[in-house]
Amino acid sequence: MKGNFPVEKFRTLETPFYYYDVDVLRKTLNIVKSEAEKYNFHLHYATKANTNPRILSIIREYGLGVDCVSGGEIKAALKAGFSRDKIVFAGVGKADWEINLGLDNDIFCFNAESVEELQVINELAWHKGKIASIALRINPEVNAHTHRHITTGLQENKFGINLSQLEEVLDLLPTLSNLKLIGIHFHIGSQITDLTSFKALCARFNDIQELLFRRHIILKHLNFGGGFGIDYEHPNHNAIPDFKSYFEIFHKHIKLQAGQQVHFEPGRSIVGQCGSLVSKVLYVKEGTSKKFVILDAGFTELIRPVLYSAYHKIENITSDETLETYDVVGPICESSDCFAKARDLNRTKRGDLYAIRSAGAYGEVMASQYNCRKLPEAYFSDLI
Ligand SMILES: *Cc1c(COP(=O)(O)O)cnc(C)c1O
Repeated sequence: MKGNFPVEKFRTLETPFYYYDVDVLRKTLNIVKSEAEKYNFHLHYATKANTNPRILSIIREYGLGVDCVSGGEIKAALKAGFSRDKIVFAGVGKADWEINLGLDNDIFCFNAESVEELQVINELAWHKGKIASIALRINPEVNAHTHRHITTGLQENKFGINLSQLEEVLDLLPTLSNLKLIGIHFHIGSQITDLTSFKALCARFNDIQELLFRRHIILKHLNFGGGFGIDYEHPNHNAIPDFKSYFEIFHKHIKLQAGQQVHFEPGRSIVGQCGSLVSKVLYVKEGTSKKFVILDAGFTELIRPVLYSAYHKIENITSDETLETYDVVGPICESSDCFAKARDLNRTKRGDLYAIRSAGAYGEVMASQYNCRKLPEAYFSDLI
């Protein structure tokens, strides 16, 4: 089964481009929202997955907040109309101007990742006569069982405050009078499909909560980050992630105190399946042992296969001929510029259109202009 694409319309457009199925996006938003509301969980869309202005504005319609990891993302979120009191700001290297931007906009919370960062936020807030709300991003030492480049919750990773330093940080905080500790934050990695990793995170949180109780601290905001994976193999059959099971895990396993609020920062799981990269076949080249399909899109448009050895389903949306085995590559002058090896695809000829599926997250946002290429356009199913 292939995706549903307006192929005739596509033939009139300059390739490569991103195509967003707004119906899939809206269905996903409806479900994530209703499943989260069952437990009164709060959602902050992780903007780094896709900051296309139209995507942001559709997500905003559903009342989500945002999780930003740079000053540029905070600006993009504000421009798209997200309310400042639902902005959380994470990131291991916040520059002074980015912290000041957050302070000037009175954002909901800084997720702080080191002692030095806490000191800097405190100082910048003091200069402005403000109190910054902060959550401590704790590195929970929970293995996400995902690709090593998208694992973030282990001691070897650069993110968060080590669990072993938590008490030290708690001792320091009362001396930082322009900070208000409102919460705790975790983000253990991305494209996590094994829910037991989240269960382990819940258990770790419960231990930390015990430690905090012993110090008579009850934090109001508990943020479990993002990371829920999507089905890259079956974007047509399984377009919407199983948010029901995901939230159930947290509901069942975290021990909440009265008044505590639970937050999540889904990125990929919201936008991943609505996007495809559409590309035209430039050449079909018969090597000595292989056949290559050479597309007009490369890692400049979609870098995930090269960066994370990521799998994307690929469809020839203009051919129903018998299957043949191809390596699907891009035009960039790097050997690594390859989308897939030995993939069975309908027999292909110059001019065919390919859809590289599940490219809504970490696709368009990571596009580059290497080889003096243009950034890709984006089209939307409801406007095309
Ligand atoms: C990247 C990121 C997310 C979103 O991760 P997904 O895997 O796209 O859901 C959430 N929170 C933080 C802090 C992040 O860095």
